Amino acid sequence: MKYSRQRRLILDIVKSNPVHPTAEWVYQQAREEMPSIGIATVYRNLNALSNIGEIERISSADGIDRFDGNAAEHYHMQCCKCGKLIDLKAKDTAALEELRKVINTTFDVAGEDITVTTTLLRGVCDKCADTKN
Ligand SMILES: [Zn+2]
Ligand SMILES: [Zn+2]
Repeated sequence: MKYSRQRRLILDIVKSNPVHPTAEWVYQQAREEMPSIGIATVYRNLNALSNIGEIERISSADGIDRFDGNAAEHYHMQCCKCGKLIDLKAKDTAALEELRKVINTTFDVAGEDITVTTTLLRGVCDKCADTKN
């Protein structure tokens, strides 16, 4: 697919970022490369890219959407203290496979298997857990 220069730039910013950036953050980064870019253009391209599945939009409890350039199936946890959104690493990939089976046998949906995309768990991140006391 042929992308405009703006879309390419926005996609690169999201993909090269392991944290899950907000639209505002992407906009700040994009402006460094392309000072004339507007926030509306950033929003429009983020929407378009998530609609076609190039990136994933994650709506979180704080009402601020974040974007994820990691298209592989993975789970997220949002820290209840600092709001950070973290990619969860599975301790055991076989268990992850089990979990997917459990999800598919638990919920009654017609059609294809459920794949995990924006699954959001709540917990406390390492950093906040360390500073608890
Ligand atoms: Zn935290
Ligand atoms: Zn992620």
